[in-house]
Order: sequence, then structure tokens, then C-alpha cells
Amino acid sequence: MSAFADALAAVQREIPAHKRCRVGLLLEQLDSTDKALAAELREVLASDIPHTTLKRALDKIGQDVGIDSIRRHRSPECNCPR
Ligand SMILES: [Zn+2]
Repeated sequence: MSAFADALAAVQREIPAHKRCRVGLLLEQLDSTDKALAAELREVLASDIPHTTLKRALDKIGQDVGIDSIRRHRSPECNCPR
């Protein structure tokens, strides 16, 4: 890893949980409760499925994630580590 990649990883580790968006927190939670769904969700987030379609699908599985969180997380303008 380059010095810059190390620095970037260090900054991402320093981001406190409360600075993460709803999508990031959900992914983090799923990483410990449902790894398969976490992987599936990451794949869909990286795809070109519209934000609204993704939001409605999350609603159906009982995950209330705002459309703005989804948009920010995908853009990516949020602080989540990636
Ligand atoms: Zn995020």
C-alpha cells in the first residue's frame, strides 16, 4: 500500500459511527447480522438501479432508509468508509 492509501485508510478508520449515513450504518449492522444481505445490498448500491427502486425494496424488507441517504451514499458525498 502507498503512503497515501495508508493515510486514506487511517482517515476512514477515524470516522465515528455517528458520522456515517443511514445506509452505511445499515451495512455495518448487516455485516454482523446478515453478511449475505450486506453483500447483496453493496452490489445493488453499486449498480444503476434507481434510488427510488432501491428505497422501495428496502421498505419491503422493513428497512426505512431515506432517499437522500441513498443518493448521498451512492454519489458518494457521505462520510462512510468504503
Ligand atoms: Zn454513507
